[in-house]
Amino acid sequence: MIRIQKSAIPPEKLAQDGKRKRRSHCSSYSRNPAVYQLGERIFSFDSTIYAHKSVKQALIKAQHGKCCFCERLIGTDGDVEHFRPKQAYKQASGEPLQRPGYYWLAYEWDNLYLACPGCNQRHKQNLFPLQNPTDRAIDHRHSIDFEQFLFIDPGKEKPEKFIGFRGEIAYAIEGNLKGKVTIDSLKLNQRSLPEARLQRLQLLKSLWQIVQLASQKPMDKDLQKEAEKAADLLEKATKEDAEFSAASYWALQTNFQFIIG
Ligand SMILES: [Zn+2]
Repeated sequence: MIRIQKSAIPPEKLAQDGKRKRRSHCSSYSRNPAVYQLGERIFSFDSTIYAHKSVKQALIKAQHGKCCFCERLIGTDGDVEHFRPKQAYKQASGEPLQRPGYYWLAYEWDNLYLACPGCNQRHKQNLFPLQNPTDRAIDHRHSIDFEQFLFIDPGKEKPEKFIGFRGEIAYAIEGNLKGKVTIDSLKLNQRSLPEARLQRLQLLKSLWQIVQLASQKPMDKDLQKEAEKAADLLEKATKEDAEFSAASYWALQTNFQFIIG
């Protein structure tokens, strides 16, 4: 996971149609909150607005075509994910769904990311745990500013403050709860993610070894040339547009000591 810088101005579709929809959802809710809280009536959200191609394009650009959580390259295959779930939420995976969700944020630019199907549909789903559930904004009349959420929000926080990598394995820095919940809930050390990261890190380690070798043989001109190329590729691998750039950054910082092979 890395920090994501979205454009300051929301896509027009959200600013216009999204805003209109939000107003209509809020006034429907205000007329009869109980039916929404009991789940007798649910909101119908318009994916042609929040997942409009202009919105998706803007997210692809901001996220360099990568999943906001696992940093896999997904290109145009990602889902538009609501950081705070729009229809209903769960405090923890075994707990019941609570309604309504954060309906008033369904078309909010700050609340949208692009995620791979594994992160979004299979693992995050409706989860939105808070440190203290009584701080939760249960409808649009409450502020979300008091919520201490336990998922890292890559648009607002620096994930590297919470999650580090030992080789291909993500860990919560100093055991912090937010890093731990994010890693565990999204299964960032399961699925095929560690293998995919390891493959990449092993390649980078080979490049790093060329650079190390070259530093011991300054007279070997051919080797120096190769080392220059290798150093360049290593630098690119830690840039924000590279797949698994966070793990690559940590591997480089720790001289690839956790990478076997
Ligand atoms: Zn993902």
